[in-house]
Amino acid sequence: MSEQKLQNLFDLNRTQLTQWLVSLGEKPFHAKQIMKWLYHERVCDFDAMTNLSKTLRAHLKEIATLSFPEVITDKTASDGTRKWVFRYHCGNSIETVYIPETDRGTLCISSQAGCALACPFCSTAHAGFNRNLTTGEIVVQVWLAKKLLGCGDNGKRKVTNVVLMGMGEPLVNFNAVIPATDIMMDDFGFGLSKRRVTLSTSGIVPAIEKLKEVTDLSLAVSLHAPNDELRNQIVPINQRYGLQALLKACHEYVSHNAQHGGVTWEYVMLKGVNDSLEHAHQLADLLRGIPGKINLIPFNPFPGSQFECSSKNAISAFQRYLSDSGYVVTVRKTRGENIDAACGQLVGQVNDRSKRYKKLNRYEVEHS
Ligand code: SAH
Repeated sequence: MSEQKLQNLFDLNRTQLTQWLVSLGEKPFHAKQIMKWLYHERVCDFDAMTNLSKTLRAHLKEIATLSFPEVITDKTASDGTRKWVFRYHCGNSIETVYIPETDRGTLCISSQAGCALACPFCSTAHAGFNRNLTTGEIVVQVWLAKKLLGCGDNGKRKVTNVVLMGMGEPLVNFNAVIPATDIMMDDFGFGLSKRRVTLSTSGIVPAIEKLKEVTDLSLAVSLHAPNDELRNQIVPINQRYGLQALLKACHEYVSHNAQHGGVTWEYVMLKGVNDSLEHAHQLADLLRGIPGKINLIPFNPFPGSQFECSSKNAISAFQRYLSDSGYVVTVRKTRGENIDAACGQLVGQVNDRSKRYKKLNRYEVEHS
């Protein structure tokens, strides 16, 4: 059988793997056994899966595979942040970042090769867009990061949290992303709790509306502006799905499950663009009544970016205004800067198939 026709097992969540096995005439319970080998033991040689019958092992060798990208770059920043560039068979490469902290380790993963949305302050947008990643290409980032970090070998470095905040808009790639997050939260997969798997979206409203039917992961929303006029410019998807519809969908998502921690509202601090006290005032009014917290992100510059980060004083004043208005507000610490691993600096190497540059240049002309 040719390589392309083999079933990549990283592409299947537990339900899908069970169905696939059953369709082959195998017993459904083998799905749990196989997943334990893959995700708990990190064994990827079918012969070593010793509690499977010899016949099943031989069968798997014939029809299944585990597909890995090539590790192109492996860099560690002075603050311990580690960044990998993984290249998939199609030639596109994406970036995955590990951020260690005293009490946890967060892995920031990508969901697309590039991004088709044109947020002008994000370097991924400037790289253009090639395609959605498959479930397996998303899952394998966690698998490989854990292996390369030696998780389980010394018990020290652990991936305790996964955030879909790398390259791409995860909700544009809904059908691949959701099974991937299922595997992250499955006890037979990576076993992370729903509080520790966070999907960040720029606000694809119909997908947020669908989300509650299929998952209860944590939701972060790239808000970045407190009114439609400004958001239309810096998060252009807002022209399609405006703030009112976005907030309604988010409110419904977090109300659906009483144990939900609320929305994390991400707000990038752009000097002179969205960082005045008037903006803070509008934001406080806008978010009133929706469970959640606000995360202010200092803007990370990249070559060719036409924005500047707000001053420390402006960020503190913005934060103070919002906390005085009753919100929980944190300021994200910038990590991994000296290896271009910070938010919005991930570009990979994308064979652009979009007209990205045209759109971004239009923004630059309008605002120069
Ligand atoms: N497409 C998704 C996830 C990717 S980006 C989304 O929009 O949420 C993860 C976060 O980093 C988003 O909040 C994004 O707006 C922010 N970001 C992008 N570029 C940035 C930059 N240059 N500096 C700081 N934050 C940035």
